Amino acid sequence: MNAPFSAASLDRIRSELKASPRLLYIDGDFRPAVSGETLAVINPATEEVFAEVAAGSGADIDLAVRAARRAFDDGRWSAQPPAQRARMLLKLADLIEAHAEELALVESLDNGMPFMVAKFGGVMGAAAQLRYFAGSASNLNGETIQPATWPGEWHAFTLREPVGVVGAITPWNFPLAMAVAKLAPALAAGCTVVLKPAEQTPLSALKLAELIAAAGIPAGAVNIVPGLGAAAGAALVDHPMVDKISFTGSTAVGQAIVRAVSTTLKRVALELGGKSPTIIFPDADLDKAIPAAAMSIFGNCGQVCAAGSRLFAHQSIFDQVCEGIAERARSLRVGEGLEPGTEIGPVVSRKQFDRVMGYIDSGAEEGAAVIVGGKRIERSGYFIQPTVLSGTTAAMRVTREEIFGPVLCAMSFGDEDINVLAAKANDSDYGLSSSIWTRDISVAHRLARRLKAGSVRINGSGPPDPAMPLGGYKMSGWGRENGRPGLEAYTEIKCISVAL
Ligand code: ADP
Repeated sequence: MNAPFSAASLDRIRSELKASPRLLYIDGDFRPAVSGETLAVINPATEEVFAEVAAGSGADIDLAVRAARRAFDDGRWSAQPPAQRARMLLKLADLIEAHAEELALVESLDNGMPFMVAKFGGVMGAAAQLRYFAGSASNLNGETIQPATWPGEWHAFTLREPVGVVGAITPWNFPLAMAVAKLAPALAAGCTVVLKPAEQTPLSALKLAELIAAAGIPAGAVNIVPGLGAAAGAALVDHPMVDKISFTGSTAVGQAIVRAVSTTLKRVALELGGKSPTIIFPDADLDKAIPAAAMSIFGNCGQVCAAGSRLFAHQSIFDQVCEGIAERARSLRVGEGLEPGTEIGPVVSRKQFDRVMGYIDSGAEEGAAVIVGGKRIERSGYFIQPTVLSGTTAAMRVTREEIFGPVLCAMSFGDEDINVLAAKANDSDYGLSSSIWTRDISVAHRLARRLKAGSVRINGSGPPDPAMPLGGYKMSGWGRENGRPGLEAYTEIKCISVAL
């Protein structure tokens, strides 16, 4: 099988990454960290250091936040006509598409994901996100209000104003897509941004910085500062000139951020973990449901916040569904992201590898049976076999806690009332996503209404659509990204009332 990218491009990128440390992007310039320190970037498929990145910390975050503050306050971005902001976001989308191969190669080396996933899920998804929010930049309307209580005649209306300087903190599972998921709506709304990408996967965001500059987005409007969470991330959260933190990552760090902002009360949006149910009824189209259920947990090696990590299949089809998913697990090509034909890469880091293997062991200790997988793959790199556990119960750690790896907990249900089934699916601290497979439209809708989850997919699967709000109930987070709520999340509402 031929590689879907050119060998010359890969060579060029490898040597560029090796040649010198990647620099921070602050106020339109690329510069080393104030401390001069760097972090090693590891290829999870080989465990080799293949790049160095400047290690941002408090001093760099301060420079970046001050640059973003100036760019917001002097209006070079926030006061541009929305159509002009849209034009630059569209230009950035075009540039991303034009550099898709390069970006996807960087992403695959850095995160381990298959090149095709990086290209079509990550890079093209990022371009789509920018185009969607470019369109909505000109549609940020307030509303007119008829005062309901006050006497007299009033003209009252609301304005939607950009919230100000946004601190965006992103995870390592889809590095480029996550960065753009925050940049696109924030910039469309007129905010300026300091982005702190995950320390494990900082490289695609810094490639993006080159394109941001080329798109003509003014200096200071976007600043990108990789660094450790406890240093750069925490400094961004604490900085008094930041108006809003938009975070995607673990629930534990989300909680730490909430504690940290209790003094400044800056706005916070949190897109956190999940333990999402896939519910399959006996009348479902199993030819579609089984592969979708499998990829919903094995895709991107399970490192997806909306992964379908808990399976509920009706007892009459439970064995068939489990066997179908197990068969898919066995046939999946697990390998280096740049090997042609790879469907699943490694998990991102040694820490994540140990964590996932620890969960598999804990499931076995608590009495779950391993139907397929359950072991590391014997080669260098952080490779784990796609795994299905059955005999899992709602009390086990593997069913309660987010594993963020290719591990499915399979459970069956009987002919119980739909409320009982919903209660089982809802028996989780999380409430991010869910999917239902049945041909009975009434059952599908009745169950969808009862699920405590920010999104419900019925008889379908696929990546998030920028037009569809995404976010969680319960401990899956605060707020929504994407869609109209995703844009409005970067605004403050001002109500103006005029006595006539
Ligand atoms: P994981 O545990 O899976 O690596 P995290 O939630 O720790 O996920 O990481 C998501 C992002 O949050 C990363 O960019 C990371 O650097 C950042 N981060 C980690 N700790 C903190 C913190 N205390 N304050 C702010 N950001 C943090």
